[in-house]
Amino acid sequence: MTSINSKIHFILLAGGDSLRFSSNSNKLLAKFKNKNLLNYNIEFIKELKFKKISLVVKNIKKTDIKSNNDLEIIKGGKTRSESVKNALNKSNFKSKYVIIHDAARPLNSKKIINEITKNLINKKYDCVVPYNKCSDTVVVKHKNLDRDKLKLIKTPQGFLKNKITYLHNKYNKKKLNDDSQLFRYEKNKYKLKYILQNEINIKITYKGELETLNKLIENNIFVGIGYDIHRTIMTNKNNLLKLGGAKIKSKVKVISHSDGDVILHAITDSILGALSLRDIGTYFPNNKKNLNRNSIDFLNYALNKMNSKKKMINNIDLMIVSEEPKINPHFKKILDSISKNLNINKNIISIKATTNEKSGLIGRGDFIACWSNISLRDS
Ligand code: ZN
Repeated sequence: MTSINSKIHFILLAGGDSLRFSSNSNKLLAKFKNKNLLNYNIEFIKELKFKKISLVVKNIKKTDIKSNNDLEIIKGGKTRSESVKNALNKSNFKSKYVIIHDAARPLNSKKIINEITKNLINKKYDCVVPYNKCSDTVVVKHKNLDRDKLKLIKTPQGFLKNKITYLHNKYNKKKLNDDSQLFRYEKNKYKLKYILQNEINIKITYKGELETLNKLIENNIFVGIGYDIHRTIMTNKNNLLKLGGAKIKSKVKVISHSDGDVILHAITDSILGALSLRDIGTYFPNNKKNLNRNSIDFLNYALNKMNSKKKMINNIDLMIVSEEPKINPHFKKILDSISKNLNINKNIISIKATTNEKSGLIGRGDFIACWSNISLRDS
């Protein structure tokens, strides 16, 4: 792909005035991934090693992108077509092929660019255009159009450079939304290829579209760890012990100021940790109010904090160390209870249990402990 691309001049259009995006902001400078839309696009295109990139901007003085050996900056015109024409006529770069792309389309596809170059160079098409099929109902003056016949035309588009330059100069006065239109004006005079693109390829026009897109792609993960241990005493009669909110029959009794649910305490601390907050003890000290307190209250406190910070649980991994009770016989009950109390699917909960092989205080059955490792993400 690299060698093919080195024959191509790439024109990136960033000259629009973004009036529909917001009255006072340029959409191409809005945040996308960890960059802005424009820089994100330039980085993507640079990776593909085209012969030269021409960046077309409205105001060269206001651009902080610098020209270099691989990239030149060209002043755009009043309309999209004028901007393309400027790039085609004023660029110093000589090449047989050109690809023209709108910088407002951030969902670039190497696969589509590869298909464009192959059709241009190997199959000798004059114009190669990707399109999406239309799956929405389209209504014009109360009448439905036959959507199966519709093509939603996209960029990047590839051309034989001398032909697209000729047509742009010939149809100088026409107002164009895309460059392939020029080849449709000429009916069957040129070889035009449409490529069906199944991937999403949207043009960011409204602010809300970029917000939705950012929400879909952002994958900020916040990790938290929690640990809890409680003393247990053997009573040789059946006690009801709380583990993950479930009531488990056991010969041991847990010594605790609250209800002593080590699993919920560890989970609560891990959520607080992932939110960069303090620990359970800070919010629920060992005072009269918290005596024999239901640990669900601690958990709900942390979950409310999580919700108010617009985060959700991504996954949770628990390690319980207990000699008595044995965890495995109660595994399903504990899993069900954690799933219900955290309001998450069981397939993102991992519960591992071990004994301490009768060594140390836990091994002797004097303690029960739990580690919780949790990851949260933006909700
Ligand atoms: Zn505890």
